[in-house]
Order: sequence, then structure tokens, then C-alpha cells
Amino acid sequence: MKHAAPRPAGDLLLQPAPRAGVLLPLPLSGAYDYKLPKGTNAARGLLVSAPIGPREALGAVWGAAEGSVGDNRLKEAVPLAGLPALSHKLCDFVDWVASYTLSPPGMILAMVLRSAKAFAPETMRTAYVRGGATPKRLTPARARVLAVAEDGLARSVPSLAEEAGASPAVVRGLIESGALAATQLPEFAAFAVPDPALAAAALNGDQRRAADALKADVAAQRFAVSLLDGVTGSGKTEVYFEAIAEALRRERQVLILLPEIALTVQFLERFAERFGCRPAEWHSDLSSKERTRTYRAVMNGDARVVVGARSSLFLPFRALGLIVIDEEHEQAFKQEDGVIYHARDMAVVRARFEQCPVVLASATPSLETYVNALSGRYAHRRLYGRHGAATLPVTRLIDLRHEKTEAGSWLSPPLRDAVSATLAAGEQAMLFLNRRGYAPLTLCAGCGHKMTCRDCSSWLVEHRYRKRLACHQCGYETATPPRCPACNAQGTLIACGPGVERVAEEFGVLFPQARVAIASSDTMHGPLQTQAAIRAMARREIDVLIGTQIVAKGHHFPQLTLVGVIDADLGGSDGDLRARERTFQLLHQVAGRAGRAEKPGLVLMQTRNPADLVMAALAAGDRDAFYEQERVFRERAGAPPFGRLAAIILSSHDSVAVQEAGRTMARAAPAAKGVKVWGPTPAFYHLLRGQTRERLLVQAERNVDVQAYLRAWLAAVKVPNKVRVAVDVDPVSFF
Ligand code: ADP
Ligand code: ZN
Repeated sequence: MKHAAPRPAGDLLLQPAPRAGVLLPLPLSGAYDYKLPKGTNAARGLLVSAPIGPREALGAVWGAAEGSVGDNRLKEAVPLAGLPALSHKLCDFVDWVASYTLSPPGMILAMVLRSAKAFAPETMRTAYVRGGATPKRLTPARARVLAVAEDGLARSVPSLAEEAGASPAVVRGLIESGALAATQLPEFAAFAVPDPALAAAALNGDQRRAADALKADVAAQRFAVSLLDGVTGSGKTEVYFEAIAEALRRERQVLILLPEIALTVQFLERFAERFGCRPAEWHSDLSSKERTRTYRAVMNGDARVVVGARSSLFLPFRALGLIVIDEEHEQAFKQEDGVIYHARDMAVVRARFEQCPVVLASATPSLETYVNALSGRYAHRRLYGRHGAATLPVTRLIDLRHEKTEAGSWLSPPLRDAVSATLAAGEQAMLFLNRRGYAPLTLCAGCGHKMTCRDCSSWLVEHRYRKRLACHQCGYETATPPRCPACNAQGTLIACGPGVERVAEEFGVLFPQARVAIASSDTMHGPLQTQAAIRAMARREIDVLIGTQIVAKGHHFPQLTLVGVIDADLGGSDGDLRARERTFQLLHQVAGRAGRAEKPGLVLMQTRNPADLVMAALAAGDRDAFYEQERVFRERAGAPPFGRLAAIILSSHDSVAVQEAGRTMARAAPAAKGVKVWGPTPAFYHLLRGQTRERLLVQAERNVDVQAYLRAWLAAVKVPNKVRVAVDVDPVSFF
């Protein structure tokens, strides 16, 4: 046997292949062992392509390999070329969220690796500039295209065609003739860099103090949580813009989380006015291309400011220097499907891993945040009053028990009078009702049959303009039937209660001369019409806006002086722990729309419970009185944030199996000090999308490790495969 020449010690060929535990973006219990090409530095976060079954998956080196399987039996994962790894901070965050939410870590990694294409090698794209040749035949369309190309910018065929108002064939003809020449550009246009110095506001005293404190946190690159607390119009946005400017000066990235991405156009424009360009966006409506472009730019640091929905929290920022969560109390931050998590709470955790400050902005903070600010755990930065001449509106209650209103009428005489006066003064009014459609319930006057969803335990909501009944839980729709499906009588179906469309109908009869629009997320209008209605209101092209909670948020209507709340009791005391808080927040926010400029505002709320805590606090304009009583109430009840809650939701198409699984789980609940288990009970929507749902609720004292309790419990029971088990730690809704 011939001996190979001796090789120097440390030669790669003599060493075994490096191996590592690789986490894949799949619902697996943990990382899987792979070998890596020789010479690979298997650092945590290194992105690899790993074979799994018949396909390749994107994954990340997560830690040391655990098994002792021989090299020949391990599959090889190959590092992706030329790409940054995920930071250790981000990997640690993924593990933390997985553990907190009791989710497989791979499912959290899947939220990080949201754009698979972003990891493919960067390609070039062909664009065209003016070429040397002159076309023989110069039609008007050709001339327009060449005129567009005159500025020397390289453009794609579609954008040349669009800008010139010509067909792509015209552009291609010019390319063939040599009048346009091809050039290669990077696949994606670069992001503009916001200019921190462009248009800073001259802050007032409160604003300056708050901004300075936030800027100091940004400058120190330290973890700190601040509640930026002030009524709408107090300048919270201006203040956190200063913190953003500070982060930009220090070349750090910023994440701004907003609750409803549909409402960001105004925000993006305002940002552009302050910083000279729009920020990058991240939400579910992005095209796959935009997604790839933004993801890459976030990863390499070129996207300096990202505005996004909750999923943007998992983006791989290169140098995150600040997180802002605007309207931090909004429930939209809670993700209820798949991995159930609260983006506000997880943002605070991410900031801790990144060692950067986080700002929670709200006029009506969540009780959790309020208590944290009160106890000093969060810094409390308060802005008192509105900026400039704007004053806070006066709120008055209209006691519907004493106001005589005829049946089928939703506007009481005092509200009608106030609308008349407002219109006579040439000012604007808004009527608010948090109910979409025409009527929330349709029933048969003959037999009493209620029209309900085929798949859910919810009423079908009539949408009269579209002549349809719709389920607002699952989207099921059907034409309004001519006969009652139960007793077959004709013409007996009647609408019960008001939705915004019905209020608009009555309004039209009362005030035929007023210019009015409806804004609701799903009327016949749709989101575009809603945006148009809101714009028309802001430009004073209409007199009255009638809307659902979509009108409550963030809009600035300078001429709006009257807000009428049709039913302030809606969503009131229905046993839900947070019902009072939510009602207060929503009504406070709606009221805040009135009198934002120089003219004072009036808010009229129709209620049957004027003595209720929420109503009394609103009428008195005493926000802190509400918070204080709610705090005491929660503390006595051991409710969050003074105690902890977690829900287990079981669901299945097999209703018997779900109920059986619920009982099995309840019997298996471990006894533990400071822990109570409630249920199983049918969930609020005990039928949802055709699935039967049961809930169990864990209530624990604050020092209890709820996750450990849940893990032990879940490990002790075997639930049949057809029953899905979801864990909701810190539930905010109870559906
Ligand atoms: P909030 O975010 O608290 O609702 P904004 O930051 O949107 O308040 O401020 C409300 C309005 O007042 C905006 O039009 C804003 O530009 C204006 N504003 C607030 N503070 C100032 C200031 N210091 N100088 C000039 N305009 C201001
Ligand atoms: Zn339904």
C-alpha cells in the first residue's frame, strides 16, 4: 500500500467535517444535526441551505450538534454565499419568543426568514437609456418615449411606456432601432436616506423635555422603555420623530410599529415631510419583489427606518437603535393565528436583546403599560394638553332612557339639534358607530328565526346596498333570501338594530341637504372608498362622516367640531376582562377627533348607562380616574398585570372529540400553588369556521412560571391528532 505524503497538522482534509445543530423554519421540536463543508466556521446564526426530505430548506446554524451519528449518515448543509448571518441577538430573541409562547423555535425562525428570495444571489436588471441612433420614423408616441429618456435616467420597458403614455411595443421598436440602449442596473433601487435635520418642529416645553430624555436613551444605546403619554394632538409623533432623528444621526436603524397598516399613507407622507423621503414599509400587502428589496436593505443596513405591522418585529436589522410602537394599546398588535404573540410585549423583549430604547406612544395606554409607568419600571413622559391653540373637547352624555326616540330611529333629539347647529355654523360633524353593515341581526317576524352563519356561532350582518348577509367572523356571505329559511314565509325577515349604513340612511332622511360619506372597513365602499371618504372629510368636501372605528384613529380633521357616538354602550360589560378598557380607549379616541384646530369641539355620547365607570370618566374628562379605578379592580381580581393568564384553545371539526379532549385536559391539570384552572367552557365563538372550540383558562399569581406549568400540563396529556391545541399566553381577547 502506498502511503500518501505526510500532511501538515491542522490540514482540513485530516479533520472531520464540522457539524452543527441547524434550525429549520418548520414546526419541529428543535434543531437537527447536519455536517457542514470542511473549513466552515459554524457560528450561531450562519444561514445555510439544508436538505430535508426531498427538498432544500433555508435554515440557520443554531448551536453545537447533539447526536453522535457518523459523518456518512449526516446530511450536509451548505452555507449561503456572501450573506450576513443572523445576529446572536436575533437568534437569542427567537429562542426567547419560542419559549415564552410555547411555540416550536422553527416557527419563530420562519417569521424571521420571511423572504426566501432575499437570500438568492443578487441579480442585475436591464434598463434603457437614450442610444446613439435616431429612429427613421418618428411617430408622436416614439417622440414621447425619447423625450422621457432625455433626462438620462435608466428605465425599464414598462416604466418608459407608462411615463410616455405609449405601448411597450413602441419602446421595443426604439430599442431595435438603436435609439434606446440597454444598460445593467442592480436588481433593486436603493432606499433613500432620511435626513434628520430637514424639518424639525420647534418643540414646546413638555415636548422638549420628553424628546431630550428619549434622545439621551438613543445616544446611550441602552435598553430603556418609555411611555410617551399625551392626548391626541399633544405632539407625540413630533417628539418621537426627534428620537428617530437622533438614531439616524448615529447611523442606527429604527423600527416603527403601527397597528393598522391600511392607515399609514398619511403617516408615510408626514414622515416624508419631516425627513425628506418615505421610510421603508413592511406588511402583508407588499409584493414579493418589494419584500425581497426591503428585507435585503434591512439586513444590510440600507433601510434606515422601517414602518411596519407586527411581523416587522422579526426583521433581521443590522444595527437597530430604536423601536417606536405607536398606539401601543391597540389590540391589532396581538397576533391570534399561528404563533400567538403580542408584538408590543415582544418588541420590549427585542429591544432588551438589542440594547436599544423602546418608546410606547398612546393617549390611552394599555393598563399593563400604565401600571409599569406608575411603578417606575417604565419612564413616564407626559405631554399635557394639545399643542398650540387646540383645546380638548367637552363630552356630554345623552341618557337614552329619558330621550324619546321613535322606533327605528338612532339619532336622539339632542343629537339631531347639535348636528343642525353644526351644519348651520358651516362646521363638520362625525357620527360614530362601531358596527359595520346595515343591521347586526336579521330575524323572521313570523317564527323568530335568527339568520346565523353556516360555519360560526355568529349572526349574519345585513349589507343592504349589496343585498347580502355576511359573517364578520369568517367572511361567509349569502344573498338576502326572499323567504325565511325556517318557516318559508315570504317578506317576514326584518332588520334589528343599527349598523353604520342604517344610521346613514336615517341621516339622509333627516338632513337631505348635507353632504355625507360612510367610512367602514367593509361596506359597499371597500378600503379605497374609505380612504377617499376620509380625505374628503379632511379637505372639507363633505359635511358629515359616518363611520366605524376606522374613523377613530389618527386622522386630523381641522373643521370637525361635533362627534356623535350612536351607541356608547356597545362592547361594554360583557364579561370580558378588557371590555371596559377597550370601550374607554375607543370612545376616548373617537372623542379626540373633535376640535383639533382652533374651534372647540363637542362630543355627545348616547348611552343607557350614564352612571357606568367608563361613561362617568369620559364625561368628566378624567382619564386617570378611569385608570385608577380599573387598576384597583384588576388588582383585587388578581387579573393582569397583577396576575397572569394563559388560555388553551382546543378546536376540531369533531365536536365530540373536542369536548372529550377538554375534559381530559381539565382532569390532567397539575395542582400547583398560586394556579387556578377554569374550564373547559365553550369559547365565545364556540363554532368558528366550522370548528367547535373549547377553552381552558389558567390564572396564576404573578410570580408563577406559567410556561413551566403549561409545559408540564401539556406533556401529561395525550390529545387526539384531530384536535388542535393552541396556547395563548397573556390572552387579550376571549373569543
Ligand atoms: P399626537 O401624535 O400626539 O396625536 P401630533 O404629533 O400628531 O400629536 O401633533 C398634532 C398636530 O400638532 C400635528 O399637526 C403636529 O404637526 C402639530 N404639532 C405638534 N407639536 C408641534 C410643534 N411643537 N410645533 C408645530 N406643530 C406641532
Ligand atoms: Zn362565519
